[in-house]
Amino acid sequence: MGKIILTGDRPTGRLHIGHYVGSLRRRVELQNSGEFDKVYIMIADAQALTDNADNPEKVRQNIVEVALDYMSAGLDPSKSTLFIQSQVSELTELTFYYMDLVTVQRLQRNPTVKQEIQLRGYSDSADSSRENRGGIPVGFFCYPISQAADITAFKATTVPVGEDQEPMIEQTREIVRKFNATYAPVLVEPEILLPDNEACRRLPGTDGKAKMSKSLGNCIYLADSEEEVRKKVMGMYTDPLHVQVSDPGHVEGNTVFTYLDAFCRKEHFAEFWPEYDSLDALKDHYRRGGLGDVKVKRFLNSVLQSELAPIRARRRELEKDIPYVYEVLRKGSEAAREVAAQTLSDVKRAMRINYFDAEELADLTGCQTAKYSG
Ligand code: ATP
Ligand code: MG
Repeated sequence: MGKIILTGDRPTGRLHIGHYVGSLRRRVELQNSGEFDKVYIMIADAQALTDNADNPEKVRQNIVEVALDYMSAGLDPSKSTLFIQSQVSELTELTFYYMDLVTVQRLQRNPTVKQEIQLRGYSDSADSSRENRGGIPVGFFCYPISQAADITAFKATTVPVGEDQEPMIEQTREIVRKFNATYAPVLVEPEILLPDNEACRRLPGTDGKAKMSKSLGNCIYLADSEEEVRKKVMGMYTDPLHVQVSDPGHVEGNTVFTYLDAFCRKEHFAEFWPEYDSLDALKDHYRRGGLGDVKVKRFLNSVLQSELAPIRARRRELEKDIPYVYEVLRKGSEAAREVAAQTLSDVKRAMRINYFDAEELADLTGCQTAKYSG
């Protein structure tokens, strides 16, 4: 059987460099590797609505932003199917059936769900001392199940994502095993594909917080201007113990170095800072002391700009023809729908809820006639 990719992003904002190193850059490489029969990239608007029910306009506006980010980063509609989740209604139907295979307790134990519930300020207690958005929306609570529907609808074998998605893929694998054991072996168990590089699995925010995230406002966006990127880099969190240039510095937990781990290649030194021949040499000097943060930040800025400049330029071109971008998504959604419909039909047959399929109808009428005429 061939290899198939499914992955996506929530249209809750433009994509940032955390998305880029965590998943997007990898998708483009995989798309171009020729190793995969199919690449499906989904804009998860229905999922975004689970915690943005009061803000549909935000989700709507960001669909085109995410699509622009995709294509400017190198996702090519002639090689990958780019589509919008809500336009493939089969996914909702699959979700409903998979709900029967998951317990509330299992969802409650999902560490990413736990973390996000906290992050979003959902609470079912009457505690009014903290900001409280009220209880947890059922749709939000169930989104790992809808993610399982997204992945399995396309019989995806490979899901390239960041580390926060690990519990989601595990949950999908459990649903697949349960479904196949209960009904018939029609679903494919997917594998997670994490970045090899540790720094890319969960890129921290510019404020040094654990994760760069649209919701935390600590992002460098792919669409940021040269000046915006420069300002954000120069204001970044480093090592609080590195006060004087001569002080020994720490590179672990120092966001500037984490970003260099994620972005810097050997050739960047020859181009921007020939005094050093590798990141290890630069780190050694920083650890010894005598190397100022400003210099390291300037270098990081050059590295980031060289990666982001071509993306920015392609975005500027694509922005001139927004109807084309929507056309790509419309066609992609149609193509995705056909595939998902086939899986849904397999699922319904396995669950024996395909009463009106031709062969089933013949069977049923045969039995019932025998029973009632009998
Ligand atoms: P939101 O705050 O709305 O959840 P987000 O910034 O967390 O947004 P998602 O759309 O949830 O972004 O994530 C899309 C993909 O990008 C996932 O594969 C996720 O693992 C990856 N990703 C998101 N943030 C990072 C990050 N900081 N480092 C590495 N990967 C990331
Ligand atoms: Mg997220």
